[in-house]
Amino acid sequence: MVTIGAIIYEPGSSIKNKTGSWRTFRPVLDNEKCVKCENCYIFCPEGCIQEDENGDFKIDYDYCKGCLICMNECPVNAITKVREEK
Ligand code: SF4
Ligand code: SF4
Repeated sequence: MVTIGAIIYEPGSSIKNKTGSWRTFRPVLDNEKCVKCENCYIFCPEGCIQEDENGDFKIDYDYCKGCLICMNECPVNAITKVREEK
């Protein structure tokens, strides 16, 4: 439900809005090429790239909207795009 003025009254409520269904392209991250610069983590507007306990970066596809900012900010082309299958 969108409130008047699109005001969010309940803290953390946007976590219910899974934005992954918006994607046309899916970013795919290759941790073999990744140099751990954290650019993708810093620039992702959805905050859906996280580092796991092994130091590998993972994309949460429930929230990734496919903007591909991460791909454009990656200095070593460790992120590529594939067309999303519906
Ligand atoms: S495509 Fe956009 S939303 Fe998805 S992980 Fe990359 S920066 Fe984040
Ligand atoms: S931007 Fe590229 S090299 Fe940097 S952490 Fe992300 S995937 Fe790795």
